[in-house]
Amino acid sequence: MIVKCRKMPDHLLFLETLLQRNADLYEQYQRVNAGYIGELRVDCEWDDIFLEQEHYLFHDYQITNQANFTHQIDTLFICRSFILLIEVKHIMGRLDFEEQTHQFIRTKSDGTQNVYHNPIDQIERHRLLIETLLLKWGIELPVIPAIIVTSPSAHIGMTPPHYLIFHVTGLRTKLQQLFEKYSPSVTSEQLHNLKVLLLANYERKPFVRSIIPAKTIIGALCPHCQPTVRLQHWRGKSFQCPRCDNRFTDAIPKGLRDYKILFGELITNRAFRQFFGMKDVKVASKLLAHLNLESRGERKTREYIIPDKVKWGT
Ligand SMILES: [Zn+2]
Repeated sequence: MIVKCRKMPDHLLFLETLLQRNADLYEQYQRVNAGYIGELRVDCEWDDIFLEQEHYLFHDYQITNQANFTHQIDTLFICRSFILLIEVKHIMGRLDFEEQTHQFIRTKSDGTQNVYHNPIDQIERHRLLIETLLLKWGIELPVIPAIIVTSPSAHIGMTPPHYLIFHVTGLRTKLQQLFEKYSPSVTSEQLHNLKVLLLANYERKPFVRSIIPAKTIIGALCPHCQPTVRLQHWRGKSFQCPRCDNRFTDAIPKGLRDYKILFGELITNRAFRQFFGMKDVKVASKLLAHLNLESRGERKTREYIIPDKVKWGT
């Protein structure tokens, strides 16, 4: 049973929105997106596995430790016999997990190498926290860390002996082996209680936006023109593109959706004008009134709250 579903990370949505407005961010976006693609690939594998044993799955489990640091566990699986912690890596090339040096090295087919944070150290950090919590909650279950590699062109090289590091296609077999190795050590009720405790301690890390790079194009964008063109001429009911001359009646709600992702849910009249490139305070006030947004504060300090779905033209 899936207790927590995976959502697109806020950071990825932020980068995706920013990328339409600043092509320089492509590599950064690709890196973050690859991580998400790998996690979704593992989720798909879980969907294809039928387990008779009672179990709960938490995708992207987040919790804060006693030192106020966040743990973000890609997948947390609990059953009456064991707990499985999964760290996902979507990286192609040869991957070496060096035990002595604690380094994680990727070698591409052309021989170039990259050194990354060792996922074993990451998952061991999670294991320690989960074991501490189990002790505190009086639940005795073995905690097994695993690293799952998802890129089809990855070649798993050197790994520490007895450590679970495997390609995603092996998940079903590894689970079977774990069920054969570990017998149930908690009751169904204890497992249910553990699920409740884990849910109660779930704490999503607040997203902190990075500074918008200087070259980024702000405002409403023409959906037709490439490279990106900022719509600049408000014609009373629509924005007109200075390049293709097309008019767009939905440019403001679309622009506000992006504004919310890039800057947050609050917008002032001044910020609205700066973003959409409008000079006239009255025109902006009329548009903000037409949007019927909730607001707080009075007059010049008034801030409007951008909802998840901006209604327009109703
Ligand atoms: Zn255009």
